[in-house]
Amino acid sequence: MREELAKKQLKELPRWQGYTGPPMDLANMRQNGVRSLAARCLDCDHRAIVNVDDQPAHLAVKSFEARMCCTECTGRRIDVRPNWSERAVTGNADGRHAK
Ligand SMILES: [Zn+2]
Repeated sequence: MREELAKKQLKELPRWQGYTGPPMDLANMRQNGVRSLAARCLDCDHRAIVNVDDQPAHLAVKSFEARMCCTECTGRRIDVRPNWSERAVTGNADGRHAK
């Protein structure tokens, strides 16, 4: 289901939602002012913020889904996306996101 959606979106390439189609990598994410991932367990809804400062930039955000495991229920169905809320909180840290 999701894969089919992604294929459709490849044609239209929604700007900031690009990660649902073509894989957004850490380099791309960092360019958007985000340096951590928001992970959510699809089984128990446990959420965690994962700092990826030490991860190589070429890694796709979605590639972390296969590598993560829920610390609450040990489930492996993890949804990972850029932690956009971090951008809102720390967005002005480097002064480039003013208004
Ligand atoms: Zn879980």
